Amino acid sequence: TSIFESVELAPRDPILGLNEQYNTDTRSEKVNLGVGVYYDDNGRVPLLKAVREAEKARIEQAAPRAYLPIDGLAPYNKGAQTLLLGQNNELAVSGRALTVQTLGGTGALKIGADFLRHVQPNAKVVISNPSWANHRGIFERAGFQVDQYPYYNPETHGFDFDGMLAALKALPKGTIVVLHACCHNPTGVDPSTEQWKQIAETVKETGLVPFLDIAYQGFGDGLEDDASVVRLFASLDISVLISSSFSKSFSLYGERVGALTLLCASKDESARVLSQLKIVIRTNYSNPPTHGGTVVSTVLNTPELYQLWVEELSGMRNRIRDMRTQLVQKLKDHGVTQNFDFVLAQRGMFSYSGLTKEQVEALRADHGVYAVGSGRICVAALNSGNIDHVAKSIAKVL
Ligand code: PMP
Repeated sequence: TSIFESVELAPRDPILGLNEQYNTDTRSEKVNLGVGVYYDDNGRVPLLKAVREAEKARIEQAAPRAYLPIDGLAPYNKGAQTLLLGQNNELAVSGRALTVQTLGGTGALKIGADFLRHVQPNAKVVISNPSWANHRGIFERAGFQVDQYPYYNPETHGFDFDGMLAALKALPKGTIVVLHACCHNPTGVDPSTEQWKQIAETVKETGLVPFLDIAYQGFGDGLEDDASVVRLFASLDISVLISSSFSKSFSLYGERVGALTLLCASKDESARVLSQLKIVIRTNYSNPPTHGGTVVSTVLNTPELYQLWVEELSGMRNRIRDMRTQLVQKLKDHGVTQNFDFVLAQRGMFSYSGLTKEQVEALRADHGVYAVGSGRICVAALNSGNIDHVAKSIAKVL
């Protein structure tokens, strides 16, 4: 007899399932807008020049591959923290901020969740409605009850500010609130600067624990502007957790490069917190991998490579913006009278297109255009070769 006999078949991941379906589609005009990856105008995942330079240097050095420290490479952590908090931030200077290298943004969320489970075992976690699907999965697996706060208003294709604020105010003290610091996944809808100020005030007044997730820094308005929400929360003088990811901004998805940053009340507290985080990491995977961490660290800490990276990142951001503009224009050209201007206001890689489940299904079945059932499309997968077909197809299914 097998101990696995009663194991049930889990449902397929909806987005990965879509990819499998796409891969077996034989139509030449097929387009995959279901993914969460940036593609260049040739439909390829780019290998950034800054990354290539750093990799070359690493290979030439024939660097040994010993274990990294449990919390990762120190210059990597410093670089990741500086991107979030800015140069010479008070919290960094005073030793109240700590950063550990993690296996992508997912790893940062998981280490943060496991740690919080020790510190706040009875707290509830709230995520936006809708949110990145793995937010729920990660916090539930860590043992938390996960609820949602209102976020997206389908009628306006915009942000439900009043709904979110009212929900946050009604939460018990100590509730962990997961917030997308920029470029909300899946909607592309972000609060305004003024709205963020009120959200931050509410979080502080209600005694909530903000867990900021920033997986798309650089894809909104640029590296500095996109960190403004992180810096706003850092100025509140409360405990903050931040998961950040270089998967998208360095186009290093498979290297698992991320960071977990915690803002503490004192240097002493920060040392105690770090010691506990190390236990969480040690018992999960012991220490992070060398290659991606070294490459990112080299770029972040070499002025010429950093400058090159900033330019390449701007290139990705501007190309996505251009695709938004072109999509809206081409929909008009193909006779669509419905207003799609909201796509221009959305930020980051994604757009909640407003397409219904039926329309998404028709797009796939009749035109080979793959989107997520929720209507989410990855604008970063549009290019000069496929955008016309996509716009024409959307016009037909509307
Ligand atoms: N948070 C959000 C909101 C995301 O969209 C993603 C990537 N899809 C992540 C975290 C994690 O990214 P990764 O683990 O690939 O770095």
